[in-house]
Amino acid sequence: MTREELFYETKSVYEKADEAKVKAIYDFAEGYKTYLSASRTERLAVREAVKLAEAKGFRAWEPGDPVKPGDKIYMVNRGKAMTLAVIGKKSLNEGIRLAAAHVDNPRLDLKQHPLYEDSEMAFFKTHYYGGIKKFYWVATPLAIVGTIVRKDGTVLDVSLGLEPGEPRFVITDLLIHLAGDQMKKTAADFIPGESLNILLGTRPDGEEGSDRVKLAVMKLLNEKYGMIEADLLSSELCVVPADEVTDLGLDRSLVGGFGHDDRVCAYAELMAILETEAPECTAVCLFADKEEVGSVGVTGMNSQNFEYFMEGLCRALGADLRRCFNHSLCLSADVCNAFDPNFPETADRRNNAKLNHGVGIIKFTGSRGKSGSNDAPAELVGRVRRMLDEADVAWQMGELGKVDQGGGGTVASITAMRDIDTIDAGVPVLNMHAPFEVIAKADLYMTYRAMYTLFNTVC
Ligand code: MN
Ligand code: MN
Repeated sequence: MTREELFYETKSVYEKADEAKVKAIYDFAEGYKTYLSASRTERLAVREAVKLAEAKGFRAWEPGDPVKPGDKIYMVNRGKAMTLAVIGKKSLNEGIRLAAAHVDNPRLDLKQHPLYEDSEMAFFKTHYYGGIKKFYWVATPLAIVGTIVRKDGTVLDVSLGLEPGEPRFVITDLLIHLAGDQMKKTAADFIPGESLNILLGTRPDGEEGSDRVKLAVMKLLNEKYGMIEADLLSSELCVVPADEVTDLGLDRSLVGGFGHDDRVCAYAELMAILETEAPECTAVCLFADKEEVGSVGVTGMNSQNFEYFMEGLCRALGADLRRCFNHSLCLSADVCNAFDPNFPETADRRNNAKLNHGVGIIKFTGSRGKSGSNDAPAELVGRVRRMLDEADVAWQMGELGKVDQGGGGTVASITAMRDIDTIDAGVPVLNMHAPFEVIAKADLYMTYRAMYTLFNTVC
């Protein structure tokens, strides 16, 4: 055998891509950029997905409704998570093909008593959501998006600072001239969590009384949304970067934007299921919420909402849920870290995913000796390897950093807990969890092809 046959190495997708393939890769990213721009929170990511799905003939469905092979259905979980399915020809007893991404991502949430005035300036207080480096969030343009639920149950959509020409917001940082003490602190401490306060306004209303700037801000909010301060108690308002999603690099091979983790995988699996017609096995696409805070809550992957959906399907189609799960295959579609030559000391070059080398398959995540990891069985890795190679999907095996450097997790261990064969598969990301993350268009495209292959190859 030759050296090439004996050795294994991955190559950049561009090494063997013809002109048509490069065009397909770049074209696919255009739709993604539009989706990502419109999807700055999990609620918006779900709403945009519903629009795209309905345009492709998917209908809202819930357990108890009729369903038959070939049907395209979706169910939204409380506006923040969703499940889509294309019913296959085979019985659900043969299992489903599941792709599971999450649509929440690190950001700042407003506290429930957020509004106050100090030194004739009005602010919103925040409590950060997920793993962030707090210093990213100061001295950069921000927007506020989310939902307010009034006492009478009416729901208000809030979006401030994203439209061209709209005012934006900022969290101020200390000037370098006075930062002697600050600069001696560690990066974890030099921006205290309680100082992540959003500057809202400085112009007072009226001539008497206290908190006149706060009053002026409250009047503006009331004019725009008909809301009062107490409505903030029952609100979910998120502070997100106001920057646009954009191509990066002279060759435009990269996309920069807020929230690639994990909307890039959500978009890849969504596009794959929207193009899936009458598959052999039922294709299911899942958008989970709350992954960044431990998959908790009624909209997180630990919720029984997925069972509610799947049990309803099994009942309608005369199958057994437990058997269905046991025969299923899941790609836990979440991003992995791309090797960054600026920080080579944090990774094992031989095992780290690389930009442009295709969808990253991650056998195990976890930290301190794979702790908390799904660690997919070798048989499953072999099955996925065969599936992707046969479909000519560029893929690579990755690992989150060098041993004992840190770690992380995904929803993979939670779908596996349901007795579903699960492995992580997703797009490699540079500066993951920063307000402006970076992915390669070629990897997005290959992740989409991987999800399409999952849904459309024979079980
Ligand atoms: Mn993720
Ligand atoms: Mn994450």
